Amino acid sequence: MPTQITCGQCSKPMMIREDMLGRRVRCPHCGNILIAEAAATVPPAANLSAPAGVEPGAAAPLSPPPFKLPPAPPPPPVPPPASGLPDRGTVPSFGAPVGYAPAPPAETSGLAIASLVCGIMAFMSCGFCLLPQVLAVIFGHMARSRIEASGGTLEGQGLAMAGLILGYISLVQVALLVVFAALAG
Ligand SMILES: [Zn+2]
Repeated sequence: MPTQITCGQCSKPMMIREDMLGRRVRCPHCGNILIAEAAATVPPAANLSAPAGVEPGAAAPLSPPPFKLPPAPPPPPVPPPASGLPDRGTVPSFGAPVGYAPAPPAETSGLAIASLVCGIMAFMSCGFCLLPQVLAVIFGHMARSRIEASGGTLEGQGLAMAGLILGYISLVQVALLVVFAALAG
């Protein structure tokens, strides 16, 4: 299987056989003799930290020295911001950090489902139980902010909205019950 390498002198790509890796090859464009090293197999961490740590010219990626490269320094503690995605800040989430993992198929937010279930329970309790509607409102707001911050990996806006509405209606029911009880008493 041929491998593409880049000439350090003329910066042009060339195809070599895989068993030529680590040996001297001649660039077909400029005649430069260079050591074949597969640039594509360099791990991304080395690419990120290499420009900052090495002295210029000594270990440029295009002209690798004939001896073995020392192990790359550890990557910087603060990862660079993900490019191409809007900056959502550091949103706490249960899954992988937003913007780094390859986008999985959108899944329904569990908080949205919990909000809807609590909203239905609160609605059916007709205001005689206070906990479900409070949970429905809390879960509904949390679900909507999570869904909005997920950048498309979470869905369930409709469920969260339904849970929110049911929760608020049930809260109004509780308030009316308290008012009537006060008037009757
Ligand atoms: Zn060349």
